[in-house]
Amino acid sequence: MLATLVYDIRNSRYLNITGRCTLRCQFCPKQQGSQQVRQYQLALDKQPKAAEIIAQLGQVSEYDEYVFCGFGEPTLNLSTLLEVAHTIKQRGGRVRLNTDGLANHFHRRNVLPELAACVDALSISLNAQDEGLYQQHCQPKLAGSWQALLTFIKLAPHYIAKVQVSAIEGLDGVDMAACRQLVEHSGCEFKHRYLDIVG
Ligand code: SF4
Repeated sequence: MLATLVYDIRNSRYLNITGRCTLRCQFCPKQQGSQQVRQYQLALDKQPKAAEIIAQLGQVSEYDEYVFCGFGEPTLNLSTLLEVAHTIKQRGGRVRLNTDGLANHFHRRNVLPELAACVDALSISLNAQDEGLYQQHCQPKLAGSWQALLTFIKLAPHYIAKVQVSAIEGLDGVDMAACRQLVEHSGCEFKHRYLDIVG
């Protein structure tokens, strides 16, 4: 099966720009040997270039929004993300980025100003109310990821108008009320998600 670079859920077009991850989430289909989300085969054997994604954007007027979200962390292919997002904005479209919130930690600089120039909304995965649970469920590859995530969540609303931060009901030990409190205390909107529901 050919790798899927773009796929549609409801009225949004999803952009799959990397197979690399900063996390190894235990609940991820990838960690369970699956290459698929819904009917789409999302495993990628290389990082796509911006031109390959731009060629598959279609008519921006036909989609509510474009969402960077695939089988990897989109900010790990930052140059492609920025170029594609700028193209969508120039064509009058709306851009959302689904992220693990570790871009600044990984790139060792604040990338929010660059994102703010071409991203309308951020959806950040929190997934735990404390470091121990985060380690257990998300298994970050980089030391210091929990603190970096908390810092990113506090910083993001200063740059981007709509910032949602999610936790997933159904993961062992996750206290949804505590996650909500942490998120709202950071100036973001809480998104309650449910295990095994994508999109
Ligand atoms: S960040 Fe997303 S793609 Fe990566 S391991 Fe976690 S759930 Fe899977």
